[in-house]
Amino acid sequence: MIIITDKKNCTGCHACFNICPQHCITMESDREGFWYPVVDEKKCIQCGLCEKVCPVLHKELVQNEPKAYACMNKDEIIRLQSSSGGIFTLIAEHIIDKGGVVFGASFDKNFTVVHHHVDTKEKLSQLRGSKYVQSKIGDTYKQVKDFLIQGRMVLFSGTPCQIEGLKSYLRKPYQNLFCVDIICHGVPSPKVWQKYISYRENDVGSSIGKIFFRRKNEGWKRYSVSFLFKNNKEYIKTFDKDLYMQAFLKNICLRPSCYDCEFKTLHRKSDITLADFWGIQNVFPKMDDDKGTSLIFVNSNKGQIMLEKIKDYIICNEVDIHKAVSYNSSAIRSVQCNPKRDNFFHELDSYSFDQLVKKYCSDSLMLNIKKKVKSIIYVVLKKIGLLEVVKRILRKTRI
Ligand SMILES: Cc1cc2nc3c(=O)[nH]c(=O)nc-3n(C[C@H](O)[C@H](O)[C@H](O)COP(=O)(O)OP(=O)(O)OC[C@H]3O[C@@H](n4cnc5c(N)ncnc54)[C@H](O)[C@@H]3O)c2cc1C
Ligand code: SF4
Ligand code: SF4
Ligand code: SF4
Repeated sequence: MIIITDKKNCTGCHACFNICPQHCITMESDREGFWYPVVDEKKCIQCGLCEKVCPVLHKELVQNEPKAYACMNKDEIIRLQSSSGGIFTLIAEHIIDKGGVVFGASFDKNFTVVHHHVDTKEKLSQLRGSKYVQSKIGDTYKQVKDFLIQGRMVLFSGTPCQIEGLKSYLRKPYQNLFCVDIICHGVPSPKVWQKYISYRENDVGSSIGKIFFRRKNEGWKRYSVSFLFKNNKEYIKTFDKDLYMQAFLKNICLRPSCYDCEFKTLHRKSDITLADFWGIQNVFPKMDDDKGTSLIFVNSNKGQIMLEKIKDYIICNEVDIHKAVSYNSSAIRSVQCNPKRDNFFHELDSYSFDQLVKKYCSDSLMLNIKKKVKSIIYVVLKKIGLLEVVKRILRKTRI
């Protein structure tokens, strides 16, 4: 039976929970708010299935030659509603047109992020858009299997570890399954997310109606987090000023497995990988209108066929995969753990959200501001031809 000895070795994918024939595994939140499997030993029959399907314990390597593309949905409204180039919606619509179902991450009524499925285009908006918090898989792998056995097409979308979890749980390939994963920075704690929501609600004195992580009012590159409240007030801040995004991007509240992720690779089990094409201005400047450009990896034949099916609805150019990844290292490398992470979680219940982020993220914020000021001075001095003179003076004063 599954026993978690090192939290880094559990992604919370729920494969063990879904497979257990005795229903003796529950997924329980730890002090940091991440789910881990807990076995009721009295009910366990030692069948070993939970260990067999754990994708961390049994990692299978994939041999493939992925291709990379820069893509944009031609429908500008959908693109603006999506995080990057709106490619997820096109793939999902194709599956729905074939009578299929689409699984992905959505908000429930309390704005907890959970996986669930839809089978109409109207409901696709629930899955559209990135939610920067770990999504709860629940029993969706079992639901996927039921649909597959019924012969329905299924699109399952999620983080790379969730796709690995699903494939391990299914234990055999299905022709009617299509999997989409993302380039994944890492997932923050659901407990930290709930604390942030309460902080925003208290601040405005109203409950939340809608949340968007990637509003593009100031452009795709300077995206904003927005909360629409039931009293019609709106909170909107660009990612660099939003407290939650600061904590996320400073890598202080990610799941332990995300700092040593087994699933960041160019050889993936999904059919298509979706991402932001950061650096597009250097690779294909014509595809940069700051409304969102996707980087996609086509990882399988099924993926190539899907790209063919949606090609009339997209602008698309093949790119060198290594060049594309040089602007998006999360594709292949885990982020470094913030050295203050343990203290941040230790004091999570003792401070208000703003106090916590100010205490643990502001140092690095100051450093970032200093770095930015330095780089502006550098550019200005270079432009007016004084860079070398200033460098010489600085060298002398140091001596
Ligand atoms: C936690 C997280 C980290 C990411 N890190 C990076 C990164 O480092 N670099 C990068 O280029 N791109 C990253 N992305 C992917 C990027 O933000 C877009 O999701 C992707 O480009 C798809 O955009 P789209 O416009 O095609 O579709 P959209 O409609 O914007 O994307 C919707 C898709 O995202 C999935 N999704 C949304 N939230 C979650 C979640 N919490 N868990 C699992 N799946 C989710 C949905 O199921 C759906 O498949 C990340 C996304 C998430 C959720
Ligand atoms: S060994 Fe079998 S019965 Fe026991 S927890 Fe694992 S799957 Fe369930
Ligand atoms: S199957 Fe998934 S949830 Fe279960 S122990 Fe392995 S990684 Fe953790
Ligand atoms: S970084 Fe790795 S372990 Fe963390 S959510 Fe993403 S794929 Fe899963």
